[in-house]
Amino acid sequence: MKEVVGEAEVCVVGAGAMGLSAAYQLARRGTEVLVLERTYPGLESSAANAGTLGLQNKPLAAIPLVLRAVEMWRQFTDELGVDVEYEKRGGLRLAHSSEDVEQLEKGVAAQRAAGVDTEIVYQPELSRIAPYLDSRVAAGSYCPDDGMANPLASIRALLKGAVGSGVRVWNNSPVRGIEALGDDDFLVGTPRGLVRCRAVLAAAGAWNGVVARMVDVSLPLTTDILQVVTTDMAPPIFPHIVTHVRGNLTVKQSRSTGRVLI
Ligand SMILES: Cc1cc2nc3c(=O)[nH]c(=O)nc-3n(C[C@H](O)[C@H](O)[C@H](O)COP(=O)(O)OP(=O)(O)OC[C@H]3O[C@@H](n4cnc5c(N)ncnc54)[C@H](O)[C@@H]3O)c2cc1C
Repeated sequence: MKEVVGEAEVCVVGAGAMGLSAAYQLARRGTEVLVLERTYPGLESSAANAGTLGLQNKPLAAIPLVLRAVEMWRQFTDELGVDVEYEKRGGLRLAHSSEDVEQLEKGVAAQRAAGVDTEIVYQPELSRIAPYLDSRVAAGSYCPDDGMANPLASIRALLKGAVGSGVRVWNNSPVRGIEALGDDDFLVGTPRGLVRCRAVLAAAGAWNGVVARMVDVSLPLTTDILQVVTTDMAPPIFPHIVTHVRGNLTVKQSRSTGRVLI
């Protein structure tokens, strides 16, 4: 039996964007938080993503949270003292065929009812506001609140905010087991020894299923593989965040580097 080497009110498992953000928000509200990270903060999805902060590509159930998140992103640079390069770029969600347009119209009606500021732009108006598009694109929904940020800077900002609010982060500390002693009493196993806490927050991204199994919970999680492709630096080509009604594709150009991210 290992000895107890640390205590906290909440142990957060994983120092990606989710874990650091949760730790920061808890600490701001006076909770004592210890983050346990398998390697180092932000080495997994949170640093390898495309940085799109879109409203139009989110499920309806998530919209109330996403609207709040937009307000939080607007303030992060000032609040955390690190430039996260957040920009409201305006997003265009495209439709080619008549079926696509029908799907877009339904989606926009539902999103507007949920409070998203979005409207459909048809040809020829679409070509006027987005002359870079092929004329075969029949319509697009425009949302001024679709935005983007720099994922690497965002991790630095969240880490700074969390640590500055009193959060402790243990690197090279994979959680290997969790023992529930009571409803609000847990022992968390790490290579350094055990940590005793009142709650465990699983923020291990794609590995959350592994963490849940440590307390005999089976989560119905599956993993999708996403990829980001980046071009070389280029002069400004298009300002919008472009998505398509039929899939997960996002295309945008970074203002700071000129690279197009797909
Ligand atoms: C290619 C790609 C593009 C994407 N593009 C976008 C986009 O444009 N916009 C968008 O909003 N989202 C995008 N995403 C999704 C986004 O990146 C993720 O939703 C987000 O980063 C998840 O954050 P997380 O903190 O939950 O997970 P992660 O960043 O994966 O962090 C989990 C952390 O938990 C740690 N961990 C795991 N197991 C343990 C353990 N047992 N003990 C301790 N620590 C552990 C890991 O080491 C890791 O640091 C993209 C993802 C990918 C892969």
